[in-house]
Amino acid sequence: MLKRTDYLTKRYGLKESWKLSHYERDGGYRQARRVMRMKREDIVEEAKAANLRGRGGAGFPLGVKWGFMPPKSDKPHYLVVNADEGEPGTFKDRTLMELDPHAIIEGCIIGCRGIGANTAYIYVRDELHLAKDRLWGAIAEAKKKGYLGDRPFSVNNHPVEVYVHSGAGAYICGEESALLNSLEGKRGEPRLRPPFPAQAGAFGMPTTVNNIESIASMPTIFALGGDNFSKLSSLHDMRDGGCRLFGVSGHVKTPGVFECAVGLTLRELIYELGGGVAGGELLGVIPGGCSTPILRADEVVDAPGEADPLHRWHGQSVLDVPMGVDTMRGLGTMAGTCCAIVLSDKACPVRAMHNLVRFYRHESCGQCTPCREGNGWLERITSKIVAGEASLDELDRIHEIAGNIMGNTICAFGEGSAMPVLGFLKKFRPEFEAYVRTRGASSPGGLALSETLGLSDS
Ligand code: SF4
Repeated sequence: MLKRTDYLTKRYGLKESWKLSHYERDGGYRQARRVMRMKREDIVEEAKAANLRGRGGAGFPLGVKWGFMPPKSDKPHYLVVNADEGEPGTFKDRTLMELDPHAIIEGCIIGCRGIGANTAYIYVRDELHLAKDRLWGAIAEAKKKGYLGDRPFSVNNHPVEVYVHSGAGAYICGEESALLNSLEGKRGEPRLRPPFPAQAGAFGMPTTVNNIESIASMPTIFALGGDNFSKLSSLHDMRDGGCRLFGVSGHVKTPGVFECAVGLTLRELIYELGGGVAGGELLGVIPGGCSTPILRADEVVDAPGEADPLHRWHGQSVLDVPMGVDTMRGLGTMAGTCCAIVLSDKACPVRAMHNLVRFYRHESCGQCTPCREGNGWLERITSKIVAGEASLDELDRIHEIAGNIMGNTICAFGEGSAMPVLGFLKKFRPEFEAYVRTRGASSPGGLALSETLGLSDS
């Protein structure tokens, strides 16, 4: 259901929207002031009631994650905010940092209190220079007003400092354990788990890593109350609450970032917010960033059993299913970052997949053989297909290689690289076979995914 909200984006159109004066005029920092005087366990309960599923892509409930932190310890705790937004097709977090950084700083104060930390690090993708400047500016303004430092809001014993840390532009540093390594000055390579960050995270200390949109939602959650926030969503009963940022790009007339209650459908995102398909009819949509398997426009929900969570949408188009963590999983894909990439029927699914494969081959950190070698093989075979030099049995080989990556790697990047490949092959097998048989003559040519994502075609 399309329900526009403006909790996160209220100040987006204002002149110098990133300034403290705008933020305070709208009640900014009132929740941080209140939370500084709350008990830690009450803060966590409020966060749990919000049913906020992590906005970075994995969709893990934020309140539950906060609850993993040790209640009391003599070690320092850290909050690490993941702003290493680098998924092709996903560009929502940048808008928060550039246009409303104080919501993030206030969210950091609330988060620090919730997990018993005195320090928050915001890890920002290196290329986002404006975002970093705006965050540092907001920190300076908040410090000057006494909202950060040794006695935030004149409260003793709970100092809070927030720092911005610049990454170096590697996609894998968006993976939380690679991010922690990078934060510590090491190579940005994922760690084996356990231990999990709540046991031994940044600098070996208990740590929570949250996405930046999740953290920016904290002032709204505490202003509305967790339960009221959750009820904004039409998927409240599936414990997928609140409002969030949705993005749409690719072959749509009005690409952009839009704030809505959770429960928006892909049809609403594409046709109402995105203005409809540009340059043809809808072929398919990648729902939540390029790691999420594609859905075809002509797919319908097959959930005849009443126990199936998707039963209420049985027989309907997949475009009419609300975008939620569990609903998209039920369709065999993921809500991910809720930033959809739209492909028109003028796009070639073979060339689109090839671009994704090239991206993942380039971004693999190389620690595990199935991911390092598998993505290399996938790139070589898909390059042969695109060049019209492959045989039909190489389509099965793609399937086999991608299948061998799944579940055999240190981090979720392996699956994130294999799932879209398996998805494209499953959904567009006839198109792939025709492409191989005709050596590319069957391809609609025209639009490759690179043109939707800004990736180089060279
Ligand atoms: Fe690195 Fe890939 Fe292994 Fe992740 S799955 S640790 S990115 S090689």
